[in-house]
Order: sequence, then structure tokens, then C-alpha cells
Amino acid sequence: METETQSQNAGKVYLCPMHREVRQPNSGKCPKCHMYLVPEGTRFGMLRSMVKSPLKLFIMAAPMVAIIVAIMILMP
Ligand SMILES: [Zn+2]
Repeated sequence: METETQSQNAGKVYLCPMHREVRQPNSGKCPKCHMYLVPEGTRFGMLRSMVKSPLKLFIMAAPMVAIIVAIMILMP
């Protein structure tokens, strides 16, 4: 999904999705929550697209629901 933008990340600032104050010149993990940093501009982009398209959200949630149902069925 983000492989296309990887090549043009030079010079970008990386931000933690959870901590606005965390800014780093290169990719890595947030020192506070250890989440992967995302390039500036794409922050909340995934979240926004999920809100924009409920169908996408459903497609992403469906496998999780299936796993939960499978666990419930397989539970002794
Ligand atoms: Zn963080």
C-alpha cells in the first residue's frame, strides 16, 4: 500500500501517529509507544480513508470477525 511512496521519502519528517511531538528525520519507532513512525502528510491517512469508505473498513474487519468466530467454534 505504501511501497510507492517509500522511494520519495527523502527529506521528509517522520511522525508518530500517537504523539505529535515526536519528529524524526528518518523512519523508525516512536521512543514513547514504539509504534512505527509514518512520513509527515500520511499521518492519519489510513484512518481517514477507513472513515471515508466503510466498505474498506468492513473488508478489513471481516477476517478478524471470522477468526473470532472460528475460535469460538473451536473452543471446547
Ligand atoms: Zn508514540
